[in-house]
Amino acid sequence: MSTTSDARLSAHGRTPAQPEPRHETPAQGVPYIARWSGEQDPSVRVVARGGQWIGITYADRRAFDRDPGGVLWTRTTSRPGKGQPQYGKVHSLRQRLCMERLLCQICGGPADRTPDGTLWLIDAHARDLLPMAEITTHPPVCLPCAHRSVRACPHLRPEWVALRVKSAVPYGVNGILYQPGHRAPVKVTAAEVPFHSARIPWVLASQLIMRISDFTVVNLTGHAQ
Ligand SMILES: [Zn+2]
Repeated sequence: MSTTSDARLSAHGRTPAQPEPRHETPAQGVPYIARWSGEQDPSVRVVARGGQWIGITYADRRAFDRDPGGVLWTRTTSRPGKGQPQYGKVHSLRQRLCMERLLCQICGGPADRTPDGTLWLIDAHARDLLPMAEITTHPPVCLPCAHRSVRACPHLRPEWVALRVKSAVPYGVNGILYQPGHRAPVKVTAAEVPFHSARIPWVLASQLIMRISDFTVVNLTGHAQ
């Protein structure tokens, strides 16, 4: 795999379709992609697309509901800093922006990049990494945040590995899968759905999955292990 991260953006055309959010100053100690209690999913009715059984859509369609590839996304409001941080939950749009622009998931600034690639922390042991590629919903990180994250949460990251990644391309989405071919949309389950899947018209996406490859395991000082 020789595709660069920059080439990825133009080749896949999955730059955000949603309005440019204001870049809020991250709250102290709260990851940029964490969701806040003031950010809610508005109650929106999901219906069959076009009145036919070809996929799902919102009853009140808006221009920014879908990405350029036609995938339907959640409409979570964007109000970082409002209410309480919900550390276990990920804000859909901020997660997606971090993936597409290779921003640090913790501070929202640029992820660390060197000629060896972009820095990612993966929840896995090096021995469990697939040799060719991995898929992940965790965006990359900058170096200071990587150090802080590993120091602050050793019990939360019993196994993690730092990677320098030269290729990161959109692979699919995490979301709620609706029953394909059903006239009245029925939720089936949470699912990972690749973009090439026939099920993609039936998923309400909430996180972007990236396929990372051409990577090297490093320690956090940047030397290959
Ligand atoms: Zn950072």
